[in-house]
Amino acid sequence: MYDLIIVGAGPAGIFTALELLRKSCNPHKILLVEKGKPVEKRHCPKDKTGVCVNCKPTCAITTGFSGAGAFSDGKLSLSYQVGGELPDLIGEDFAQELIDYTDKIYLEFGADPKVEGVYEGPDIKDIRKRAIQAGLQLVDCPIRHLGTEKAQQLYLNIQNYLADAGVEMLFNTECENIILEDSVCKGVRLREKDGTRDVLAKQVVIATGRRGADWLEKLCAEHNIAHKPGTVDIGVRVECRNEVMEKINQVLYEGKLIGYPAPWHNKVRTFCQNPGGFVAQENYDNDLAVVNGHSFKEKKSNNTNLAILVSHNFTEPFNQPIAYAQKVGELTNMLGAGHILVQRYGDILDGKRTWAKELARTNVRPTLKDAVAGDITAAMPYRAMVNIIEFIKMMDEVVPGFASPETLLYSPELKFYSNKVKMDTDLETNIAGLHCLGDSSGWTRGLMMASVMGVLMGRKLMEKHGF
Ligand SMILES: Cc1cc2nc3c(=O)[nH]c(=O)nc-3n(C[C@H](O)[C@H](O)[C@H](O)COP(=O)(O)OP(=O)(O)OC[C@H]3O[C@@H](n4cnc5c(N)ncnc54)[C@H](O)[C@@H]3O)c2cc1C
Repeated sequence: MYDLIIVGAGPAGIFTALELLRKSCNPHKILLVEKGKPVEKRHCPKDKTGVCVNCKPTCAITTGFSGAGAFSDGKLSLSYQVGGELPDLIGEDFAQELIDYTDKIYLEFGADPKVEGVYEGPDIKDIRKRAIQAGLQLVDCPIRHLGTEKAQQLYLNIQNYLADAGVEMLFNTECENIILEDSVCKGVRLREKDGTRDVLAKQVVIATGRRGADWLEKLCAEHNIAHKPGTVDIGVRVECRNEVMEKINQVLYEGKLIGYPAPWHNKVRTFCQNPGGFVAQENYDNDLAVVNGHSFKEKKSNNTNLAILVSHNFTEPFNQPIAYAQKVGELTNMLGAGHILVQRYGDILDGKRTWAKELARTNVRPTLKDAVAGDITAAMPYRAMVNIIEFIKMMDEVVPGFASPETLLYSPELKFYSNKVKMDTDLETNIAGLHCLGDSSGWTRGLMMASVMGVLMGRKLMEKHGF
């Protein structure tokens, strides 16, 4: 019997354990279950092969200690306005207080003290003025950039700290289900080589990230965990030359812009901007290949990439937003023979596919080498495509050259935010003993906010459950 089982060793899960160990005076038996590997054993073969080999059973980019964070760009957004809807639940001021607190923990474990995107001056005024003229909103958000390789070292420091403090960590182990008795969560069922094993605990925290979104959806349906359908974002990863993005890269590092283009006025936003970065591929368990991006602290490319995401919130009777986005992704993968598709913006406007030989003679050379030139419009829903095109035109007023014919659009760029698990300000679900955190709970969508939710969970376990 454990005091606490945490499923998922992403930022949400590990900061729950970290806060408990740092703040509670009582000893605890804590088990951390993670289907991926320890952080030092996470290696993506693509570094050597140059192409994604679709690793089974787990992808080192998104699973393992530190979750999707370790191999990510490691950009910590230091404003409550970015990273999910947790502030709606706990209040904006408290969310900001927790971000400032959690940021200090990241600094203690080795984060770069430099904060980007706090520039005040004529350049930022000019960018904001252009954004206003284009009908876009520029969100202020200071960023602490860990960098992919430094993030791994930082999370290794945290992993060692947890191990030294006695947290049991079960790697390469997948949680198959939760165990309920009279609507109270009593533990988890783990899948092991030769069958399953039930492990009991007083409290269970599920923090399985975006990859665990469809698993949690099934769990919600099976056990009547109160939830509502979440948002899904469907979009593209845009790549253009650093020269085009120079000003916004220098002044803001990451320019977060939001717009509501006609005719539907859906929310469209930029996300995860990587100056001098690389476009990357992520694979989900069901073989879905989606595009993402990251940047190294030292190694730089000639390009900047960022996502343009169109938010989809469906109304009754439809309640399967994740399945909808997956279908879009599958169709795109089918057209690319399992690879990410890439198309020039100008070709989209001209109504033609892009050919590999055309890519080879443009200024923007794709940094995702195994992306296949093709036609993303053959798989992208009309509404999402029009939103993206209109948004790119608006962006061009802020960043001249953004709508250049040779700007590259990669697809599918999908963000599944899980069903939003209903919970109160103490992070209690309708099932006693069960808590859902981080990206899998639908309340966060970023490293910092997921970490913050973990910190809050640690505190609530102490306040409400005698830890
Ligand atoms: C390539 C990439 C780049 C990114 N860049 C940034 C960035 O720069 N800034 C930013 O703020 N965010 C970024 N993100 C998003 C960020 O990584 C996530 O928002 C964050 O990691 C969410 O934390 P989490 O703890 O909720 O989940 P995760 O980090 O996803 O961790 C969940 C963990 O649970 C494990 N798991 C899942 N299901 C099970 C199961 N059934 N049993 C056992 N274990 C399970 C997974 O293996 C995983 O390790 C990026 C994501 C990716 C993929």
